[in-house]
Amino acid sequence: MSLEEIKARIRAAAKSAGRDPDSVTLIAVSKLQPDARVEAVLEDGHRSFGENRVQEAAGKWPDFRERFDGVDLHLIGPLQSNKVRQAMGLFQAFHSVDRPKLARTIARIAQEEGHCPDIFVQVNTGEEDQKAGVPPAKTDALVEECRALDLPLRGLMCIPPVEEEPSLHFALLAKIAERNGLPGLSMGMSGDFESAIAQGATHVRVGSAIFGARDAG
Ligand SMILES: *Cc1c(COP(=O)(O)O)cnc(C)c1O
Repeated sequence: MSLEEIKARIRAAAKSAGRDPDSVTLIAVSKLQPDARVEAVLEDGHRSFGENRVQEAAGKWPDFRERFDGVDLHLIGPLQSNKVRQAMGLFQAFHSVDRPKLARTIARIAQEEGHCPDIFVQVNTGEEDQKAGVPPAKTDALVEECRALDLPLRGLMCIPPVEEEPSLHFALLAKIAERNGLPGLSMGMSGDFESAIAQGATHVRVGSAIFGARDAG
């Protein structure tokens, strides 16, 4: 599917939910994609991209940035404390803040660097053992901690369990965001972004539907 088709589907989903299409940001997830495909999307004028590994992003985005202005890069995968400084030099948003210690490390390094990416707290809505994210019951406390640290907290992020109906998880994330007064909702991927938009997604993370199947990671 082309970038234009995905954008048209996003606009249609927003309209049918009675929402402004401009309230949904499309993050094109370029992890493990051949450079030529990413370049084609940059040539089309798209500028918001997502990567889930700091190392992989460091290997390709500095070069793309020399050739394309205004790239907005989102870290959507796990972040280790020892990678925070490097990640701050690459990304405009972190979508995977899921523990107080990481929030404190980000706050400290942001002070030293004089800038901080937008922050999303990742919620493990399915309470899966193997998945990153703060459990729903501990989310309010982590949100409070991020605010106490003065982090630029924009919203919440989730990745629903593969075998469950995603809209239930999107609704739960929206509910937790609302009770915390958070406007941003990073949710929805290739298979379910329209349902996420119906539930209020402000950032959809779409990879394979734009670029095609990924190389094996
Ligand atoms: C890979 C990835 C995506 C994109 O997945 P697709 O199914 O290819 O759209 C979205 N979010 C996260 C966190 C990812 O790791």
